[in-house]
Amino acid sequence: MKIPTNIKKITRNAGIAFLAYASLMYVAQGITHIGSPKVNSQSQLEKLIEKEKEKLNCNKNITGEITEHKEAKSSKIDSKHYSLAIGGTGNDESALRHEVYHICDGQFELMGKSKIYNLILYFFYAEPKTTLHQIGMIE
Ligand SMILES: [Zn+2]
Repeated sequence: MKIPTNIKKITRNAGIAFLAYASLMYVAQGITHIGSPKVNSQSQLEKLIEKEKEKLNCNKNITGEITEHKEAKSSKIDSKHYSLAIGGTGNDESALRHEVYHICDGQFELMGKSKIYNLILYFFYAEPKTTLHQIGMIE
């Protein structure tokens, strides 16, 4: 079957638009890491998590870890516990702020069973909203 030219054009333009959008988000996040202090110890990490939670009026139970790998990630362990990890070039206060926001904003509670739904939720809601918080445009 031959794909109509219009569909090809729309698909290509949507691809370009998505790449432009993803690049903008990447650049916006990148800027916040410039000059952002590294988190050097477990006790400093715990203090910073508490500070961010306070700012967000959040009482979720978050365990933090500084790792050897280049990463900045957060996850939900069970209904009451969350974890976050920062490491390598992904270790700084900006990354920490970003991961605490994913948790405290209740974004893990929005996730469903469908991988595609979660991917769409991540790219078009959770990540842009968290990036706006990280760059200081929303509380
Ligand atoms: Zn994120």
